[in-house]
Amino acid sequence: MKYKLETIPVWDAFKENTECPICYLSEKAEERYLKFYLGSSVMNPETRVEVNRTGFCPEHFSGLLQMRSNHSLGLLTHTHLEKRMDLLQEHLQVLKKESSKLAGKSKLLSSKKLSSAIRGLEKHLVDHEESCMICTGITYTIQRYLYTIIHLWKTDGEFRDFFQKSKGFCFHHLPEVLNMAEEVLNPGKLSEFIEELIPIIEENNKRIEKEILWFTQKFDSKNFEKPWGTSEDAHYRTIQKLTGRTNNSIKR
Ligand SMILES: [Zn+2]
Ligand SMILES: [Zn+2]
Repeated sequence: MKYKLETIPVWDAFKENTECPICYLSEKAEERYLKFYLGSSVMNPETRVEVNRTGFCPEHFSGLLQMRSNHSLGLLTHTHLEKRMDLLQEHLQVLKKESSKLAGKSKLLSSKKLSSAIRGLEKHLVDHEESCMICTGITYTIQRYLYTIIHLWKTDGEFRDFFQKSKGFCFHHLPEVLNMAEEVLNPGKLSEFIEELIPIIEENNKRIEKEILWFTQKFDSKNFEKPWGTSEDAHYRTIQKLTGRTNNSIKR
């Protein structure tokens, strides 16, 4: 697959030196998408049609609510609801037809067609909950960033220094980094990449384990007066390391 290089945001993310540059990039991409769907661009007919049909996952509807652009959000949810009502109607019709066949019957009798109508409606709604234009957009953007990270690691010595001194990646994004490395590096370079990455991951896991341990020990009265060091927000950063959920998304 061909990817576009995105060197500036990737450099910025590594300079932030957070627990995971992909989490940082993902959060920035999410902010841009949330603004985008509440901005004037959503009036673009093609985007509008897609928003009406696909919509957003529960988490990103919450994110849109928190943007407090109530008028734009109202317009968007109104036309999305209209489309969703149409789509649901097809299932309700089938359900109604099959259920009417059982009207007045009191004996236990199963209707396979009614069962499959209920399952069909369930599948339609569950699938919809998982479809989200913002999730899809973030995934697409992150693939480009991952490609850029691997490309810069291979070609730019200054970046490679930053990479080696970075805090590594969270447990959620680590497989994505490895997948991209496997996709774009030749076997020799892939082996070099993995051998360089493993100590970064191991050292940073040990580092954050110490930070969260000191965080817990700070609640002991004998440690009240001792300095926090870097541990004051270690609970947030540990959760980020484990899940890929950043401070903002944890709070949401
Ligand atoms: Zn991450
Ligand atoms: Zn989503």
